[in-house]
Amino acid sequence: MKNYSNGIIANDDLYDYFSASVRSDTLSHAYILHGVRGTGKRTLARLVAAALNCEKKDDENAPLPCCECASCRKIIGNNSADVITVKREEDRVFLGIEPIRFIRDDVSYQPNDGDFKVYIIEDAHTMTAQAQNALLLTLEEPPPYVVFLLLCEHTESLLETIKSRAPILRMRTPQRDEATEYLIANYPSVKAFINNSPDEFEQIYMASKGSIGRIIELISSSEKKQIIENRSLASGLIEALANNTLSRDFGEIFSSFSQKRDERERIMAQLLEIEAAARDLIALKKADAPSMLFYTDRTRAEELSYSFSVAKLTRILQSSEKARLALLRNANIKLTLTDFLSSLI
Ligand SMILES: [Zn+2]
Repeated sequence: MKNYSNGIIANDDLYDYFSASVRSDTLSHAYILHGVRGTGKRTLARLVAAALNCEKKDDENAPLPCCECASCRKIIGNNSADVITVKREEDRVFLGIEPIRFIRDDVSYQPNDGDFKVYIIEDAHTMTAQAQNALLLTLEEPPPYVVFLLLCEHTESLLETIKSRAPILRMRTPQRDEATEYLIANYPSVKAFINNSPDEFEQIYMASKGSIGRIIELISSSEKKQIIENRSLASGLIEALANNTLSRDFGEIFSSFSQKRDERERIMAQLLEIEAAARDLIALKKADAPSMLFYTDRTRAEELSYSFSVAKLTRILQSSEKARLALLRNANIKLTLTDFLSSLI
C-alpha cells in the first residue's frame, strides 16, 4: 500500500514539482493552487513552506521536506512565525483589504528562523478587487525571501493581473479506489462508516465529488442526512419522469417548504443534484464509459438513460438551472417550482 505519511493524495506530481524547484532554487515567488474544497491545498502549502526552510535542503538523499528536522516540525505543526496564514473571517463572504495590508507591511521584516517567509492566503478566490489590487503591489516586487501561496477553489474571480504573476496549479481529486484506501488506512471512524453503511458511503462519496476533506467533514456532520435526502429526491424525480408518473404538485416532490432562507438553499441544493443526475444520463448517451457524478449504480443509470432523449435530458438540465438561478435572485419559491415542474411534464 502507498505511504501517505506526508498527507498528499493524488497530487504527488505537484509535491515532486515543488520539492525539485526548491532544491534547484527555481521556485517562483508566488503560486496559485486551485481545486475544490478538501483536495489538500493547505497540506501541500505547508509542505512547500517546510521544504523552503528544511534543514536538510542540501542533502540530496533526504526527502524534501524531511518532515523530521526542527524547522519542518515547527512548520508542519503550525508553530512557525515564518509561515503566515491569512484567511477570510468565518462570517464573511469576502476576504477584504485589511489582511492584505497586514501582509504588505509584514513582508519588509526578515524571516525569524529560516531562509524564507511564506504567506499562505486561504480562500484567495474570495478576495475583493480592492484586496487583490493591494496584493498586486506586493506581488510585483516582493523581497527575495518571500513566497506567496494563493489557495482557491477556482480562479475565475482572480484579476488577470494577479494570474499573470503566479503560475496556476490545479489540485486533483483522487480516483475512487485511492480515496477509499486512504480513508480506511487513516480514519478509523470513516472505516467504520464504510463497513456499517456502505450505501450511505456511496452517496457521500458522490456528493463530495471525490474530495477527501469533504468526505471526512460530511461523515461526521448532520449535513450528511440532508445530502442523502437531496440525492434521493433528485433520483426520485428522474425515475418519475422516466415512468411518466411525475406529479404536477411540487409539494409532493419538494415536500414541505416555507419562504425561509435555509429552505431556499435546501431547494437549490436539491436542484443541483437533479442537474448532476441529468448530466450523468446525457454523458451515458454520448460517451462510452463516462465517469459518473451522481449515480452510484451505473446499470440503473444506463437503463434510465434509454428512457430519455438527449433533448429531454437537456431540457431537464436547463430548466433546473433556470429555477436555481431564479431562487438565487430571490424569486418566489412556489412559483419557481411550479414553473419548473410544468416545463418537465
Ligand atoms: Zn526538514
